[in-house]
Parts: sequence; C-alpha cells; structure tokens
Amino acid sequence: DPLFSAHGRETPLSVLKRVYGYPAFRGRQAEVVSHVVSGGDAVVLFPTGAGKSLCFQVPALCRPGVGVVVSPLIALMRDQVQALKGLGVRAAALNSTLSKDEYVEIRRALDRGELDFLYVTPERTATPGFVEMMQGVEIALFAIDEAHCVSQWGHDFRPEYRELGKLTDLFPGVPRMALTATADPHTRDDIIERLGLENAEVFTTSFDRPNIAYEIVERDQPRQQLLRFLSRHKGSSGIVYCLSRAKVEEIATWLDDQGIRALPYHAGMDRAVRDANQDAFLKEEELCLVATVAFGMGIDKPNVRYVAHLDLPGSVEAYYQETGRAGRDGLPSDVWMAYGMADVIQRGRMIDEGQAADEIKRVERAKLNALLAICETPGCRRQAILKHFGESHAGNCGNCDTCLKPVETWDGLDAAIKALAAIYRTGERFGTGHLIDVLLGNENDKTVRFGHTDMPVFGAGKDVPAKTWQSVFRQLLAAGYVRVDHTAFGALKLEETARAVFKREVDVRFRKDRPTTGKAARGAAS
Ligand code: ADP
Ligand code: ZN
Repeated sequence: DPLFSAHGRETPLSVLKRVYGYPAFRGRQAEVVSHVVSGGDAVVLFPTGAGKSLCFQVPALCRPGVGVVVSPLIALMRDQVQALKGLGVRAAALNSTLSKDEYVEIRRALDRGELDFLYVTPERTATPGFVEMMQGVEIALFAIDEAHCVSQWGHDFRPEYRELGKLTDLFPGVPRMALTATADPHTRDDIIERLGLENAEVFTTSFDRPNIAYEIVERDQPRQQLLRFLSRHKGSSGIVYCLSRAKVEEIATWLDDQGIRALPYHAGMDRAVRDANQDAFLKEEELCLVATVAFGMGIDKPNVRYVAHLDLPGSVEAYYQETGRAGRDGLPSDVWMAYGMADVIQRGRMIDEGQAADEIKRVERAKLNALLAICETPGCRRQAILKHFGESHAGNCGNCDTCLKPVETWDGLDAAIKALAAIYRTGERFGTGHLIDVLLGNENDKTVRFGHTDMPVFGAGKDVPAKTWQSVFRQLLAAGYVRVDHTAFGALKLEETARAVFKREVDVRFRKDRPTTGKAARGAAS
C-alpha cells in the first residue's frame, strides 16, 4: 500500500498503522472509512466492541481540518480525549468545566488549525456560540456518537440530540456520521430522519456476540443464585445490574460481606465516590461493580468477564446493550439474568406511570413483552435475540443455557385453559398470587371473601404446584394471551387471542421448570 494517496494525504491504512499500531481494519471499518474520507455521510450500526471509534477517527485524521465529535457524556469525552492524546493526537473537549484559559487555548488551536479532534456535548453544538467559534475553521467531519440518543424509541433518549439535525444547514458540505450499537428498525429510522441523514450510506454488521454465553433463570433466592453465578468467576471483574439505587447499595454491601470485592455505582452517589469506583473497576482485575444502568455507556473495559442482571431490563435493546459490555476482548464471557413475574409488573407500571405519549407507551410495552418472550423461550436464546434485530441465526448456538441444557416442554393446553378460566371467572381483577390460590383451592381470607371458593375453577389446578402455575402465567403473558393491567394493581386480563385457547384451536407448549437450586447450566456442563 502506498503511504500517501495521489493528492498527497496519508491513506487510512497508513494512519491505522502509524497512529494506532494496528495492522488491519476489522469487519466493515475499511468501507466506512473510505466512504467518509471521500466526503460521504454515514450511519454506522455496529455492535459494542466492533470498533466504531476508528470509523470516525481515521477519516478525520485523513481529511484536512478538525474532526468534531458529539458525545453525550463528559466522562466519555474525557476518556476518549485522554486516549487520543496518548496516541500523540491533538484532541480537546469543550465542556462546562473548562477554565477561561483552557477555552482561549482551544480557540487559538482551532484558529491555527492545530487541533485534530474537538469533542463537544450535543447541547453546545447547535448554539450560536459554537457556530461563531467554528467560523472559518476547517471541519473534517461531524461524528455523532451514541446516535440512538436522538430517538424516543431508543432506551436513552436525550432531547438535546434533536438539535443536531440543524448541522447540515449550519455547516453545509461537511460529512456527517451517526454511530450507535442500537440497531432496531425504529431507532434506525428515527436517527436517519431526525439527523437528516436520508442520503447517508447505512453500514451494519452482524450483532452476534459469539463469545458471550447467555443464561436466564427464574428468580427464586436471588442472593444465593447470584452468589453461585459469581463463584464461577473468581479472579475476574464484572457488572451486576440492579434496577434501583437502594438495591445497588444493599447488594454491594452484602457481596462485600460475603468476601467478594464489590463497589456500588449509581447516579445518586457522591460524584467523587462514584468516579473513584468507576476508576477502580477500570483498573482492578477482580472487582464486582454493582450498578444501575447509569453505569456503562462508553466504558471501554475490554476484559469484563460477566454481566449479571438481578432485575429485568425494559427491552431487548437494553438487555443487549448491557450484556454487550461483557467480552469486548473477544474472550469467553458469561451473562446471566434472574427474573420473575414481579419484574414484569414493575416494568409495566414504570411504563404506565411514565410521561411518554400513548403511542410510545404501546411500543414500550411491546418491547418489554419481546424481552419476556426471550426469557421464556425453550429455543436458542441467541437465535431469539438476533431475530429481534432482524437477523437470522440457525439456532443451536451451543453457547446459551437452552442449547447447553435443552429445556423440556410439556403440552400445556389444559393448564392454560384452567389458568385463563381462573382469570375470567374472577372478573379479570386479580394478580397471579390470588389466581394461584384459586387454582390450588386455598381457602383464605381473600378467596372466601370474594366467594371464589364456590366456583368450579376453585381447586381445579391442585395437581400442579404453585411454582409451575407461576411459570404458566408468565408464559401466557410472554405469548400474549394475557396482559397485566397496571392501573388495577397488576390484575391479569385476557387478550383477544385467549379465545383460541379456550376453543382448543392452538397448540400450547410450556417450558418445564428447571430445578433452580441446582447448578446453573454452564456450571453443570463445564
Ligand atoms: P465500539 O465503540 O464499537 O464499542 P471501540 O471503538 O471502543 O468499539 O473498539 C473496541 C476495541 O477494539 C478497542 O479497544 C479498539 O482499540 C479495538 N479495535 C478497534 N478496531 C480495531 C482494529 N482494526 N484492530 C485492532 N483493534 C481494534
Ligand atoms: Zn443457543
């Protein structure tokens, strides 16, 4: 390869070798880079760890002018600027913590053309101050990182991103790139529309992460289950996600008491402590970071060996994103989740009580159900996850719990009819706990008071244990035969599709429960 192209600029491959010390581009990186170097706009949808940063950094270094990178988090900018400086690249970040002197220095470097990269926050980019600052400065490209933040369909909506649509008019002729690891069709379309990237080339690649082993279990004794999972990972670092700040604190303390080095991380913590915990996680070899989803975006720790979820995320996208933080180095990594009906009810309530428009709430509920269906599938988890992103996979991946230890299924039509009848006969006003009491024929305050003990369905499910009924209700929910009414304290209601079950027009097969006290699938297999 010639070091310099015909017009005298350094070629992308030469920049890759000289600046980063890497011998070759990976996957579709080379295509993206060459498209942008020649002035094209691009939408880059690559999974975490695929190497999106080089997709904008290399072309920025090949083109004349400064590369402007829009990034949502100051911590993330700081890390990237540090990394670039370490490579001998001239980079700076514009943010509110700058002193007057630092600001003046950046302006001077810009005016002299002595800056390769300028990182900015989205809220600053479309301001008159920024436009004025960039007057007469040559811009190599705009890279909009974490571009899914522009979309309300995404899991991390930031209204400031909407302003970035103005960049085309403000800076005509400068190539623009949007990059994200979120690839569902809704988000993708939104990015293209909101950022005015209709003419951009869209680059995607497989979202499969073959080195990640998936495991999803029913929550039973969560702390003991977590401890067993962590015992498979002595000597390595990982993340345990919890939904609430309080739970993060509790679990971190408890793990520490169990002799596992663990630190908490959530947005409500003192800034300095939080940053210190993050730094410890990045540096140490054996540390369990217990965190809310506030932790993770832009974290580049290649050797995260495991990610555990003690609560169900809100969507397949979020689950994929969070689990995707494991194994960026390509080495085998385990992700594990414990979930139960309570999650479904809690998540549903969060959606219902949220501020979003009805249309968005409908999509959010559908997203939650899609994740639930992956939790309840008797098939290959990887296949189910990829299918959600519109990608086909033959199944039998050999690296998820259902493949390593196939789940048995049973003909559940009779049980389904009983469960649905219990919902219907009691007026679609009760949650699973009461419905199971009815099915088992438990005479207690509530069943007596509501006169449910006299119904034919009372005790009709005595032959099946309570735990199995719980799983039946979850699977009916995952299959869309019932829904949870969050305005009525989690009461189950029938969907239109339940009719076909009553009429015995459909096949209903359920997963058989696994003994949750036994060793987890991978532990048993290895
Ligand atoms: P993403 O942003 O897509 O999650 P990063 O840009 O952080 O991924 O890259 C992930 C890791 O892969 C980084 O450590 C990066 O240096 C490395 N990497 C990216 N491209 C290459 C390449 N062509 N050759 C070697 N390593 C690479
Ligand atoms: Zn599989």
